[in-house]
Amino acid sequence: MSMRAAVYHGAGDIRIEDIEVPEPGPGELLLEVRAAGVCGTDASEWDHGPMMFPLSERNEYSGHVGPMVPGHEFGGRVAGRGPGVEGSGVKGFPDGALVACGAGVSCGSCEACRAVLTNFCERYYTVGLQRHGALAQYVAVPAGICLEVGGLGLDDDGAALVQPMSIALHSLRRGRPGPGDRVAVIGVGGVGAFLVYAAARSGARVLAADLDTGRLAVAEALGADVVVAVDRDEPLQAQIADSMGGPAAAVYEVTGSPAVLSAALDLVRPRGRVVAVGLGAETVPVDVRSLTLRELALVGTNAHVFAADFAAAARLVASRSEGWSDVAPMALPLDLLVSEGLEPMAAGRPERIKTLVDPWAARKRPASGR
Ligand SMILES: [Zn+2]
Ligand SMILES: [Zn+2]
Repeated sequence: MSMRAAVYHGAGDIRIEDIEVPEPGPGELLLEVRAAGVCGTDASEWDHGPMMFPLSERNEYSGHVGPMVPGHEFGGRVAGRGPGVEGSGVKGFPDGALVACGAGVSCGSCEACRAVLTNFCERYYTVGLQRHGALAQYVAVPAGICLEVGGLGLDDDGAALVQPMSIALHSLRRGRPGPGDRVAVIGVGGVGAFLVYAAARSGARVLAADLDTGRLAVAEALGADVVVAVDRDEPLQAQIADSMGGPAAAVYEVTGSPAVLSAALDLVRPRGRVVAVGLGAETVPVDVRSLTLRELALVGTNAHVFAADFAAAARLVASRSEGWSDVAPMALPLDLLVSEGLEPMAAGRPERIKTLVDPWAARKRPASGR
């Protein structure tokens, strides 16, 4: 049986092809993909990759080498099971069940896995980055990183938002804000928007800053108490400090810009935490003297931990009664993935905060928002 898929052959070269439907291996599910999100990682692979895709060198852990189907943010309907996955419904995953997938695959037996730090598994790889992902009508994934989400009230489009929410929730936790704490999120893109929502729901008082006023309107709808439309020509730190009403307990840098990281370190209170979420290419100089004297913590955040973050992320996505159509307003057909998804994103002018793709759609359709 064949299916339609977006296949990456190199920078600037994604082709929509008919390829074989994958065979689910032991412990794996076959999912019919209903919606898949794309993010900055996919856009940079398309623009100047391959950096993560194992195009010419076999990935030791996934076993994949060669042209790749991207797509690591997705949900789908169970369409088959490999050996060792129960199909009775007692353990879940009956035919047609809606699941969200965490995408990150870990071995379960190394030291990191035993410490429930699966994001640092020695044999870690990601579906859609190191083996065929979900920009295709079907994808095979380990059942252990899938969560049934239909019962939470999510639908096909909502299920595709759980993985990016999980990434955001993991980074939120790295900043450890408490209820009532001031938190600043600088950059309201595909991670920042989910982070604003997760922070607001945790009870923090959230300031969101961005260059784009449209994104700030969404940030307000997501629960930001204060929004700052950043003027590129003015010092960033002053613009945010003026609106914040006091130093923050945690600042999230979600742009990857060195100047923003320096500003973030000036915006936290003594003993505050700065979480570097954005991944820039440049090496960033840090004022260690100020960091030491003010007992600041500058921390990183990497992917998510399925067992710790994923179910909570699904509940967060489900908790937004008005849905997510402001963040993810539409789903593109595979034919428009490049021209209306990856290309504008790589050029730094994405048309929406989160772009979804529906591999079954013949034309653009509105996303359900749930
Ligand atoms: Zn992503
Ligand atoms: Zn492991």
